[in-house]
Amino acid sequence: MSKFVSTTPQGVAGKAILIAALSTACTAWLSHQMPRPDAEMSLHASDEIPDRDARDPAPLAAAPVFVGPPVPAFRVASAEVTQNFAATADQLGVGAATAARLARALSGQLDVEHDLKPGSEMRLVFRNGVANAARIFTGTPAAGTAPASSPAIPGVAADAAAQDEPPVAVRISTGHDAHDVFLYRKLDGKAFYYSADGQPASPTFLRYPVEYTRISSDFAPERLDPITHRWAPHEGVDFAAPVGTPVHATAQGTVTFVGWQTGYGRVIQIKNFGDFSTTFAHLSRFAKALRVGSEIRQGQVIGYVGRTGWATGPHLHYEVHVDNVPQDPLTVDLPTRTALNGEDMAHFAQQVQQLTPML
Ligand SMILES: [Zn+2]
Repeated sequence: MSKFVSTTPQGVAGKAILIAALSTACTAWLSHQMPRPDAEMSLHASDEIPDRDARDPAPLAAAPVFVGPPVPAFRVASAEVTQNFAATADQLGVGAATAARLARALSGQLDVEHDLKPGSEMRLVFRNGVANAARIFTGTPAAGTAPASSPAIPGVAADAAAQDEPPVAVRISTGHDAHDVFLYRKLDGKAFYYSADGQPASPTFLRYPVEYTRISSDFAPERLDPITHRWAPHEGVDFAAPVGTPVHATAQGTVTFVGWQTGYGRVIQIKNFGDFSTTFAHLSRFAKALRVGSEIRQGQVIGYVGRTGWATGPHLHYEVHVDNVPQDPLTVDLPTRTALNGEDMAHFAQQVQQLTPML
């Protein structure tokens, strides 16, 4: 018997009676006590995903108070894509905010605007709201509230859908390929989507584009320019590094400029995802075959440190713009999530194992 399951039939029955008694009157109350869809989702394996024992409805046999069939822990919804991603998501009861979140989560694997063809399928696994409902009412986490053992509470699952609850697993099938993402809440953080191998599903940023020896000049609204000797903003950060040190793209994107600009010398500009764009200046040379329009992967070598343009010594001048406004690359809020590891990875792998058969 695992930690996910109540140890006594009485425990299950006692809590179930409480739920059943409150369910009718409190559905409305529940609907605004449940977590907001964009808020942190409680999806940690230890209190959300029952193990195989917990999903066994056998304990119910000793609890004759239940009427009606048990509510399954998860609900699966699927549809063929006939129009586009957003329309199909809407058809499956996914709200606009969650649809946008899913599109972002999937963007590491496919472009939902262009890669979905008629005949592609969207398949979503939602967690039924019963476990959360029980926890709110009883104040006891996990024990006795294994979703499959809970009584039917009409309206709770519908409430979850009405609140635009994000699905815990998503599969987009496009002909030969299947693209899966899974929602997981780290032990110390918010819920995000990950691919099955524990990598963040949506694109992320690296903080540093280069292995540097020191920060030779900080981001500053005003500084005395060492070349022009005028006061001007320094809209990036300078990383001192030897000429020829590889410069890596900090996030996936598309090259919007590669060439020479006054001051910058040899410079690359990349439009990244969302509102982000990045600039890499004073380069000695560019990576081969780099052109305007080139699609860039995170971490790809795009050029090499130099001292071209207005540079007093070899360094990389690096800028991050958010919505066209330069921000301090060292402190700007970036999606810098890393792959799951350790205990998180173990919990996540368990979830993936249990959710994948439903996809
Ligand atoms: Zn600089």
